[in-house]
Amino acid sequence: MDDPQISPDLILANLSWPEVRDILDQVDLVLLPVGSNEQHGPNLALSMDIVGAFEFCRHVSRRLYPRVLVAPPMPWGVSFHHMNFPGTITLASDTFTQVLVEVVASLRAHGFQRFMIVNGHGGNINAMATACARIHEEIDVAFIGAATYFSFADREINEQFGITGQIGHACEMEVSTALYFAPHIVKTNALAAGDMTDLTFGFRKQMARYGVTVPFRFDEYTRNGALGDARNASLAYGTALMESAIANFVEFVDEIITVSPLEGEL
Ligand SMILES: [Zn+2]
Repeated sequence: MDDPQISPDLILANLSWPEVRDILDQVDLVLLPVGSNEQHGPNLALSMDIVGAFEFCRHVSRRLYPRVLVAPPMPWGVSFHHMNFPGTITLASDTFTQVLVEVVASLRAHGFQRFMIVNGHGGNINAMATACARIHEEIDVAFIGAATYFSFADREINEQFGITGQIGHACEMEVSTALYFAPHIVKTNALAAGDMTDLTFGFRKQMARYGVTVPFRFDEYTRNGALGDARNASLAYGTALMESAIANFVEFVDEIITVSPLEGEL
């Protein structure tokens, strides 16, 4: 859990410009949190994917202070497939990509050289990969990468906690993650299992088997916008997942730095 005694975090938006100038030489990597403002069934507030990505980055920044700087989280993502649920906001993929390219160009102009996009929303993955490729080709950075933070968790934790089935959105995994990072966004008295349609158990199973992509909207396979069963969420599961993910990411930062030496460090 969060212990303010451990060390401070390094959040760009909290700094003045002289402070940014003075920490430039200490920062090895800039994290760019991205997520989405989108429905998470009755189980979580719309902010989940942004709050999760930002809090993940903040924890990493604390572990490595003052080497990792956290840029402001992008407030919107690519969420057209959730638009049939009230409150969801979506950017076009091209807009999302363009914003990332321009944010990195701005920070590169100030002297930062390594960047990692840290994502909290599956719908962003394609646009994020396009942004990475463009940044690599168009901007002179020492490193650009992108990942979804859940992917850094140790796989065997799901088995240890008996988590199986269709999870990945507003489910026991995501609600447990929120219990760890931001319990105030969990709608404790409204937690419900996914209300799945026949499509989930038929055609979508075949899609997974053959790796077929079809841009279904979320309400076509879950009536309440959730997957899995959020009633099985627990702080213990969220803590195990996220502490493994944070520890793995912290180690991975050193690997990023090793593969991308800066001029003068060769
Ligand atoms: Zn989410």
